[in-house]
Amino acid sequence: MSTYRQLPVRFVKGEGVWLWDTDGKRYLDALSGIAVCGLGHAHPAVTAALCRQAGELVHTSNLYRIPLQEQLGDELTRISGMDRVFFGNSGAEANEAAIKLARLYGHRKGIENPAILVMEQSFHGRTLATLSATGNRKVQAGFEPLVQGFVRVPYGDIESIESVAANSSNVVAVLVEPVQGEGGINIPPEDYLAGLREICDRQGWLLMLDEIQTGMGRSGQMFSHQHSGIVPDVMTLAKGLANGVPIGACLSRGEAATTLGPGSHGSTFGGNPLSCASALAVIETLEKEDLPARAAALGAGLLSGLADTLAGTAGVEEIRGQGLLIGIELDRPCGDLVSLALDEGLLINVTADRVIRLLPPLIITDEQADLLTEKLSGLLKNFLGQG
Ligand SMILES: *Cc1c(COP(=O)(O)O)cnc(C)c1O
Repeated sequence: MSTYRQLPVRFVKGEGVWLWDTDGKRYLDALSGIAVCGLGHAHPAVTAALCRQAGELVHTSNLYRIPLQEQLGDELTRISGMDRVFFGNSGAEANEAAIKLARLYGHRKGIENPAILVMEQSFHGRTLATLSATGNRKVQAGFEPLVQGFVRVPYGDIESIESVAANSSNVVAVLVEPVQGEGGINIPPEDYLAGLREICDRQGWLLMLDEIQTGMGRSGQMFSHQHSGIVPDVMTLAKGLANGVPIGACLSRGEAATTLGPGSHGSTFGGNPLSCASALAVIETLEKEDLPARAAALGAGLLSGLADTLAGTAGVEEIRGQGLLIGIELDRPCGDLVSLALDEGLLINVTADRVIRLLPPLIITDEQADLLTEKLSGLLKNFLGQG
C-alpha cells in the first residue's frame, strides 16, 4: 500500500557510509536508514554474525529458552544498569510493552484509570496506542477513536509537569524522548531529565525513556540519558540496536522489572536468535571501537563545521545537536532539499517541515564528515538563494 511517498531511487548495495543505486550511482548516506545502521552498511562484524547464525538457527519461539536472547539481555542490562528486558520487533512494539507495563503498574497500585504523561511534538510509533501517545496530529488524524489514558504537556517544561503532579491522582508514568527526533531534533534544558527523575521518585511514577532513536551510541553516550547522570525505570530501544535487522526492546528496572509476568505480554518473533546475534555484534563493536565517544567528537565537529560554513546565511535559524543527532532549522519549509540532495548523491532527511535532520553512521570518517558539511552547505546556500 502507498503508505510512503517514496523517492525515485532504488538502492542495491551498501558499504560503510556509501549506498549504490541500480545505475551504479554512489550516495553518501547521512541518514543511516533513519538512525538504524549506526555501524554503516554491510558492517563485517554484523555480516559475519548474521551469516553464522543463519546457518545455525533462526527461530524457535519464546516457548523455549533462547541462549542468544539471554546473552543479549545480559549485555543490555550490563550497559544500561537496567534489570530485565522484553524483546519485540520494532520501536512501536517496544513502546507498546512500556505502555502496557505502566498500566499494569498503575492497576497494581489500585489506580483504576491510569494515565501516562506524554509530550507535544513527540513521536512514539504508528500502532494505535503509540500514535495516541504521539504529539503530532498528522499521525493521529483519521484513526480516531484514539487510545485513552494519555495526558499531554509541552516538551522540556518541568513546570507543567509539576502542575500535573499537583492536580492529578491517576498519573502512573512519564513517557519521553531524551531528545525529540521526528519532532525536529529538539533538545530539552540540561536539567530536564534530572528534574523528571526527581518528580517521578516523589510521585511514585515510572520514568519511561523512549531511546529508540537516541540510543546505541548515537547521542555521544551509549544512551542519551547518560548525559544527565540519571537512570530511568523503563527504556525502549529499537532502531540502532541490530543495525537493520528488526528488533525492539523494552528494558525495566526495580519494581517495573517484575510488573509484566507470564501470560501478560508476548511476541512470536521477539528476541529470536538471528536478531539477537546481530544486536550482540552491534554492542560488541560499539564498545570495542568506542563509537559513542566517536559520535560525540564527530557531532561536535559537524556542528562547528556547519556553523562556520553557514555563518551569516540568511534563513538558517539554528544548528543544534547531541552527538550524531543533528538538526538545522530553517525559517521556511525545506522538504524540497531532500531530492535536491539526492541529485547530488547525498541522503538527508527533513522533519517537522523546516528542520534538516542528519543521522550519519557512527563509523563515518573525518574526511567523509567534511564532505557532508561541504555538500550540504553548498546545497543549502543555493536553496536559500545565496549560492
Ligand atoms: C522510529 C521511532 C519509533 C517507532 O519505531 P518503529 O520501529 O518505526 O515502530 C518510536 N519512537 C521513536 C523516538 C522513534 O524515533
